[in-house]
Amino acid sequence: MKHSSRGASRETNDNERPGGHGGSPRQRSGDALRNNFNIKGFISTSLVDWPGKVSSVIFLGGCGFRCPACHNHRLVLHPETVDDYPVADVMKQLKRRDKWIDGVTVTGGEPTMRKDLPDLLRLFRDRGLKVKLDTNGSNPGVVARLIDHGLVDAIFMDVKAPLDARRYAEVAGVAVDPRIIRRSIGILKSSGLEVVFRTTVVPGLVEEPELRSIRESLGRVPRFIVQPFRNVDTLNPAFSRKREFDLERFELMRSSYEVPSRTESASHRFRRAG
Ligand code: SF4
Repeated sequence: MKHSSRGASRETNDNERPGGHGGSPRQRSGDALRNNFNIKGFISTSLVDWPGKVSSVIFLGGCGFRCPACHNHRLVLHPETVDDYPVADVMKQLKRRDKWIDGVTVTGGEPTMRKDLPDLLRLFRDRGLKVKLDTNGSNPGVVARLIDHGLVDAIFMDVKAPLDARRYAEVAGVAVDPRIIRRSIGILKSSGLEVVFRTTVVPGLVEEPELRSIRESLGRVPRFIVQPFRNVDTLNPAFSRKREFDLERFELMRSSYEVPSRTESASHRFRRAG
């Protein structure tokens, strides 16, 4: 399904005032429900996307990166070939589940590409839902405004590679100014929100030396997760022929570099003491 012309003109208006939208919650909600937010996927209940919480998951199309190991490449390269999921239907589904879910995970693609993201998040907020955002850190200004406007409760940011331009370009598939990534990291660290940094280890691209460098650049962080590369349906088909790390090596990387959440470390201490 293509974007409607009404959706496109609405987007232009939002471009003019990215962070704000006046009016009552009812008025805002009516306007936003007529918008087309490019929602390309919806999972009603997930236990894994927001650790410790039950969340619904919303996938938005488009991303500025071209990570060769990406599994969401249809959303990244050809979002127009995936039908839009009407936001009104999403809101109905959320209403049906509001007793069971803690909140909504907004992921992509890269959600911060959309200038009207604040309007979408405000819809969830106006229904009393918590919001977790997944981002690749490429739009620190957008993330800062979402935080300033109180539209997010948690942000999970992928740190793809060591923070130098050559390495980042290799792993993200496009030129990336590492200063932008550093800025996002700084904003998140000082946000006071639930913040998680994540790195996917990729054979030949992101291994132990790269993990060490990323961890050093991050400094003290509340949580850092190491994720495994999967050689299935990758953006660059050559990566589907790579061998995945064996479990033992992956677990070693995880235990050496992850920063667990406070509850996880407390339970580890408890188990050790017990
Ligand atoms: S893995 Fe890379 S290309 Fe794929 S959605 Fe994430 S940032 Fe974009």
